[in-house]
Amino acid sequence: MGVVSSLTGRTPVAPPPSVEVLVVGAGPTGSAAAIWAARAGLDVLLLDAAVFPRDKTCGDGLTPRAMAEMDRLGLGGWARGHATNTGLRLMGFGREQVIDWPDRAFPTTGSAVRRTVLDDRIRREAITAGATMIDGARVTGIEYDGARVAAAEVTIDGAVHRVACRVLIVADGVRSPVGRMLGRTWHRDTPYGVAARAYIASDRHDDPRISSHLELRDAAGTLLSGYGWIFPLGDGTVNIGAGSLQTAARPARAPMRPLLAHYVDRRREDWELTGEAESFASALLPMGGAVEGVAGANWALVGDAAACVNPLNGEGIDYGLEGARLLVDLLTARGLGADLTRAWPLLLSTHYGPSFALARRLAGLLTLPRFLPAAGPVGMSSQALMTAAVRVMGNLVTEQDTDLVGRTWRAVGRGAERIDRRPLFGASG
Ligand SMILES: Cc1cc2nc3c(=O)[nH]c(=O)nc-3n(C[C@H](O)[C@H](O)[C@H](O)COP(=O)(O)OP(=O)(O)OC[C@H]3O[C@@H](n4cnc5c(N)ncnc54)[C@H](O)[C@@H]3O)c2cc1C
Repeated sequence: MGVVSSLTGRTPVAPPPSVEVLVVGAGPTGSAAAIWAARAGLDVLLLDAAVFPRDKTCGDGLTPRAMAEMDRLGLGGWARGHATNTGLRLMGFGREQVIDWPDRAFPTTGSAVRRTVLDDRIRREAITAGATMIDGARVTGIEYDGARVAAAEVTIDGAVHRVACRVLIVADGVRSPVGRMLGRTWHRDTPYGVAARAYIASDRHDDPRISSHLELRDAAGTLLSGYGWIFPLGDGTVNIGAGSLQTAARPARAPMRPLLAHYVDRRREDWELTGEAESFASALLPMGGAVEGVAGANWALVGDAAACVNPLNGEGIDYGLEGARLLVDLLTARGLGADLTRAWPLLLSTHYGPSFALARRLAGLLTLPRFLPAAGPVGMSSQALMTAAVRVMGNLVTEQDTDLVGRTWRAVGRGAERIDRRPLFGASG
């Protein structure tokens, strides 16, 4: 049975001494993994260092791909009860294109739910599914038995506990402290994002479309490689944010807080923004599988920890939810004793390799100072190009898509994958 512990004003809970599956991190990825593992009848312990409900810096957007996973989890109706959107309004370079979510492999509506609410709901579903959950519980060490992880050291309210496990699922987010203990490395020479969000009251809080501005400029008018967004939350507010792409060789120069303040000013009139922007927060975004060391004999990194974020839009909840399901499917198909060292990076690169390789290349082009000013106006003037871009930016191209966009995306993606200096996710063979 599930246990919820919060340290505030309550007696700390001791974790069980051993479990079959230990999941670190109760963001969407970890909680989804715990749900699937518990539903498969496994004995699951889900831990998070934070006390829930906790915030996570995010645009709060659930793409149709994320909604497909929410539906699988049985939470789609719940999400649609918050905010729904039917597509994207793309703006920039003097143009506007309004594009519906494609009617293909995924639902035709997206959603947007504050992460304080979304993550707590998925976490509670994990408890309902039978996982034991302890929040305020940080994994602070790893104990090995040869190449396998034998146990995790878990610190709760200053007390250190040992939890033995057969499999360790690491869903500890972008900085992945546990992944780093296990040897994960992140390659900053490929594009990564820096993004910031805030909340602000808006009379258009229930607008049926999310909005992306592809011509993002700082207060001095300099064009940046990134985009601004407004995601209506249906609760009187919108999530407003901006993200820019960079690489170690071409770092973005604009500090995020003034950039976002400027963006809010620019959007104030058309989005009927009232009051001041609140809860500003920014974060880094490793993207497109630009990590290696994502698995070992009996452990695997998933979600942001494995850099499963779309390099063109910074979205990763969908890949986190999907990756969690794929990982548990792999574990249940092969058994808990299966060696994940090669199997998991190979599975990740089979599913995401071509898309991420190509998106990384495009993101790299966008960091070149002359590319965006030349390509932006051309792209925005074509409804066909932008319709294709929405599928790409919305994580909506699948391996099964056989139309021109799907075939081109995959073929060019495979080419990009072949010329990548390092294989994505460190996968080989
Ligand atoms: C500004 C911004 C905007 C974004 N907008 C969107 C968007 O609109 N849509 C979208 O799909 N994606 C968006 N993303 C990306 C999205 O936020 C991530 O892809 C998503 O949060 C990944 O979920 P996760 O569960 O893998 O990691 P997280 O949600 O980060 O969860 C990781 C959890 O691990 C816990 N943890 C860490 N270390 C330990 C430890 N040692 N022991 C125990 N627990 C630990 C943390 O407390 C945390 O709760 C955005 C990101 C940024 C920065």
